[in-house]
Amino acid sequence: MYKKRDWSTVDVVEELSKITSEVHGRYQHEPEFLQAYDEVLETITPMLKKSPRYIPMFRIMSEPERIITFRVLWVDDDGELQMNRGYRVQFNSALGPYKGGLRLHPSVNLSILKFLGFEQILKNALTGLAMGGAKGGSDFDPKGKSDNEVRSFCQAFMTELYRHIGPDTDVPAGDIGVGGREIGFLYGQYRKLENGHHGVLTGKGMLYGGSLIRPEATGYGAVYFAQNLLGHLAYTGTGYIDDQERAVAASIKGKRCLVSGAGNAAQYTCEKLLELGAVVLTASDSNGTLFFKDGMTSKDLQAIMELKNEKRGRLSELTELDNAEYKPDCKPWGLVEKVNLAFPSATQNEINGEDAKHLIDATCCAIVEVANMPISAEARKEFKAHGVIICPGKAANCGGVAVSGLEMSQNAARTTWTREEVDGKLQEIMKNAFDHCLQAFQKYTEEPNSCDLEQGANIAGFIKVADAMHEQGLY
Ligand code: GLU
Repeated sequence: MYKKRDWSTVDVVEELSKITSEVHGRYQHEPEFLQAYDEVLETITPMLKKSPRYIPMFRIMSEPERIITFRVLWVDDDGELQMNRGYRVQFNSALGPYKGGLRLHPSVNLSILKFLGFEQILKNALTGLAMGGAKGGSDFDPKGKSDNEVRSFCQAFMTELYRHIGPDTDVPAGDIGVGGREIGFLYGQYRKLENGHHGVLTGKGMLYGGSLIRPEATGYGAVYFAQNLLGHLAYTGTGYIDDQERAVAASIKGKRCLVSGAGNAAQYTCEKLLELGAVVLTASDSNGTLFFKDGMTSKDLQAIMELKNEKRGRLSELTELDNAEYKPDCKPWGLVEKVNLAFPSATQNEINGEDAKHLIDATCCAIVEVANMPISAEARKEFKAHGVIICPGKAANCGGVAVSGLEMSQNAARTTWTREEVDGKLQEIMKNAFDHCLQAFQKYTEEPNSCDLEQGANIAGFIKVADAMHEQGLY
């Protein structure tokens, strides 16, 4: 048994700076992981000052339980042997089986997967479901690859990964570069090697154990989160002339929204925003932005979905849309003078300090992180200094993994819920996530009139995982 310390006598600031210099020293070559670590530590520090006994848990939680790396060999269409690196970071399993997506992108490295896995622990805690945190993937670039090459890669990747996962151990899913097609190839190979339908991946096709609403869940969930925020701000705010004005402020209808990205998360964010009457002004990919001066229509979105999901093309190819202007090498953030909400749905650090200034000038009220950590450290400082509310990804985009959790439940019970059932549960989960963030923030803040959801999300998620670790004898 380890020796228990008397935490009442510990200098919290000194203790945290010791832990941080250890982590920064050891992982100085992992900037994205350190960015996520610093953000979490900064926001939970007020809580750690009140309850210093949680400090060792934070230290333990910052180190993955296990990291698996492997070589992936596959054959391209020219018959050439290709090699990539594959990873699975099994970060924390205190709450349940490891759970988190697989990313296929040339930028993938351990720093990025560790930041994503670290965020995933707290995100999964906020869903209220029993899931630990993990992330994996490979530096394989699916862009420009044929179906045959993607299948060859996925089968080779799973041939290595399958021995480390299982329905009660680790349940991977999609992320950037991994959608329905890739999950199908991965699952087919897993099933072949294991000789059984264990439902070990989520995001599966409906024909073989998938859940309705899973493809939509990240985007829909983020919009539900934003609705909760608007309702909270309108009904706790002052200065409204009458109830009608308050109701208008609380509704997402008519709100001017900038969306970045054009993949799964962005597409279904746009779909739900359009359904609710919001004005969607942009969509983007890494080459440029489609700007809809008078708002995107459902027909425009359909065209984007067809292009991205079936043809796997670039937005610059969408020349047939008459109410859109394509702006090459341009991000959405500085395109309009008045914005209500921004939904960064592309990738990490896509909003830099300069972009943040544009959004602040355009009087953007909140940034809803549909992607994971889309705001750079510099941009985050700008937003905080100007009172722009950040809906942190670990809360705002937890709908995706939450419906993955619901897919696991349906698989275990060998049943399928209706769209309405799953959507209803998703809405409830997003409301609970919002409420938990707010309550945790209000409990620990020294500024009762502000609304720091990042702080709330990190504290609420952290306490849950730390308590589970403690109860299981981990500290
Ligand atoms: N990759 C998604 C995320 O960042 C989904 C993970 C999952 O469904 O397991 O949360």
